[in-house]
Amino acid sequence: MKVDDLQIDDRLKSVLIQDGIEKLYPPQTEAVQKGLLTGKNFVVAIPTASGKTLIAILSMISTLLNSGGKAIYLAPLRALASEKYEEFSRYADAVDLRVSISTGDMDNKAPWLGSSDIIIATNEKFDSLIRHKVTWLNDIKVIVSDEIHLINDADRGPVLEVVLSLIRRNIKHCQIVALSATIINADELAEWLDAELILSDWRPVKLKEGVWHNGSIKYADGSIVTAGEKSDTTGYISLSTEIVVQGGQALVFANTRKSAMSTSKNISKKLHKILSKQNLDELQEIANTIRSKGEKTELRERLAKTVEKGSAFHHAGLIAAHRKIIEDAFRQRIIKVISSTPSLAAGVNLPSRRVIIRSLSRFSMGFGNYQIPVLEYKQMAGRAGRPNFDPYGEAIVVARNYTEIQEILDRYIRADTEEIYSKLGTEPALRSHILAFIYAGYVTSFDTAITMISATFYGYQNEGSLYIVENEILKVFDILVEAKLITTKEPYRTTPFGKRTTELYLDPLSARLLKKGLEKTSNNKSIPEIAYLQLIASTPDVRSYNLRQKDYNILFDIAEKYTDDWIDIEFDDFSEFDQDLFFTTLKTAFAVQLWLNESSEEHIFKELAMTSGDLHYVRESCEWMLHCAAEFSKIFKWKNHRKSLLTMINRLKYGIKKELLPLVEIPNIGRVRARSLYNAGYKSIESIINAKEEEIARLPRFGPLIARNLVKALTDGTEFKILDGDASEEPGSGIQESLTSYFD
Ligand code: ADP
Repeated sequence: MKVDDLQIDDRLKSVLIQDGIEKLYPPQTEAVQKGLLTGKNFVVAIPTASGKTLIAILSMISTLLNSGGKAIYLAPLRALASEKYEEFSRYADAVDLRVSISTGDMDNKAPWLGSSDIIIATNEKFDSLIRHKVTWLNDIKVIVSDEIHLINDADRGPVLEVVLSLIRRNIKHCQIVALSATIINADELAEWLDAELILSDWRPVKLKEGVWHNGSIKYADGSIVTAGEKSDTTGYISLSTEIVVQGGQALVFANTRKSAMSTSKNISKKLHKILSKQNLDELQEIANTIRSKGEKTELRERLAKTVEKGSAFHHAGLIAAHRKIIEDAFRQRIIKVISSTPSLAAGVNLPSRRVIIRSLSRFSMGFGNYQIPVLEYKQMAGRAGRPNFDPYGEAIVVARNYTEIQEILDRYIRADTEEIYSKLGTEPALRSHILAFIYAGYVTSFDTAITMISATFYGYQNEGSLYIVENEILKVFDILVEAKLITTKEPYRTTPFGKRTTELYLDPLSARLLKKGLEKTSNNKSIPEIAYLQLIASTPDVRSYNLRQKDYNILFDIAEKYTDDWIDIEFDDFSEFDQDLFFTTLKTAFAVQLWLNESSEEHIFKELAMTSGDLHYVRESCEWMLHCAAEFSKIFKWKNHRKSLLTMINRLKYGIKKELLPLVEIPNIGRVRARSLYNAGYKSIESIINAKEEEIARLPRFGPLIARNLVKALTDGTEFKILDGDASEEPGSGIQESLTSYFD
């Protein structure tokens, strides 16, 4: 079907044609023929890069132009939401529609969304907007739910299906377009959503899947070709450099962060020798940009060094700015190979000609080694083949021996993906949603809870056997009543504490834990900050990090020093399990405490092996928990707590001691320059205005230009900016190779 023949606005047609989209891909044609533009519900289960986003754009824009209202696009990850924001804006601009993105603060109604036509949000953020009862819900005419196969994911799945059931329950005449990877039981999703199903394996770029061993690849069709080098025991080094020589790029999936980093380093040693002088110059520039972002850490330097040689690593331990630089440089074909943890396969769209999978087994604490699901393999393999650049895509698994070749072909490459199952029927998944349903008035009793659950995908898949979930629901009611989040008897209502918990998008167990701890200590005048931090780190909403033997030694001393101060810990009859749990929470708390006391990110890494990316995540979740704790202190009038918590929140934003708070009010000053001013006696904005410019210029991390800009900004109210080239060393200088063993 030609774009020109579509019943859509001419302005949209022009932009599509400008983008080289003149004819619809087969699954897109099928969707249009089955009623995409007439408001029908759809489940579209097709491979990556086969044009799902255009299906979303066509349905959203044509509905909005025909009948007004709002369109919502739900993404499972923030990074994906940002990616879509850029993509949609271009099309929306052409037809004068406004696009907004809302992914952050859960305690915010985001009033500006009221005037947007297309709203991009994460599933959690949208759920939170529903809980805040935003006024424009009834204006929604179309919802696109991306990556709906994640219903199968125990962490992220329940919210996805709850949001979709709420939409179906509450919003009349709203088109649902659910986008999915190719899964075998997509028909169940379609039936649940009363939707047309588009199920296809069609891809714009052909995908060849095979297994490599000892210098040759055996493909799914049984053909064998020589590839890589026989002498290469890793496989991935010669397979990736070979494809670069042929003008392509490679994505190598490794199991762990450590392995992604060593993979990248090993590839870089050979790769740089085959790159052109011009390419190496461009890489040098990318490496310099990496060095100019974030704090100076050993990890940053490692990344910059491998990037200089054309190879990068990518994992959640990196800060977002570094990940974005790498993704962009890969798209521009400057970086040739990325070695990544599997998280990249579920995240941003970064196709490459060759995908190399180092292993199909994973290790997890508690489970030990296990084989990954076929769906996960297919997600990685599906990244192969870049439309318009690559003649075909190639996904290659590296086998360790001959027997593995056949096993991998049978078990993964020629296999169907597993069926997906709802993960809503467990107490941890149910407790937060049932509280929200009670708050909204949908659930007032056991029977109404069953009715609500029946409308979810869980209800669809377990029709006739919902008794399985009855016990879990009863358990949830007990927890909510006991925590005083809801009233004690049917008809259940939320208490003010329950209402605030659900608005804050907090796990009821976290709320219970915070309340219990803060209540007990509400009359204590001085609570050490580490004790507050340990309390918030022990909530299920803050992720914990593995403990190393070295951590025990550090943390044991802290545990002892504050024996009498811990808020919710009884050291008597502390089992070994409790002790481990306590130390993991203490590790997170201690990392944040170091940050609050102006330690550099490199120092925190050296102490606790938490990278800048980890720290960013921890700071974000702890700031959120402190905010929740401060909100509860307001409800319960715990004045001492509230004051201490609010101060910690402000300090956490910048990573500073209290004394620097007045100085960080200067936008862009940063904690290191603020410290430099403070130590020289400039403790307030006024004292800087009255200072001599030359004196400020002499301070560490200033110089004449920065000093002049600062004083000028403070006197005439302009914005203080550190321009490129102004920036001297970030904190934490003096990189040592002490952690080589961690990376290699
Ligand atoms: P998916 O969301 O399924 O992973 P996308 O929708 O992002 O895939 O499509 C991948 C690429 O293909 C994008 O660059 C998109 O612009 C392009 N594309 C989509 N549909 C067409 C089409 N009909 N003709 C040409 N290119 C297309």
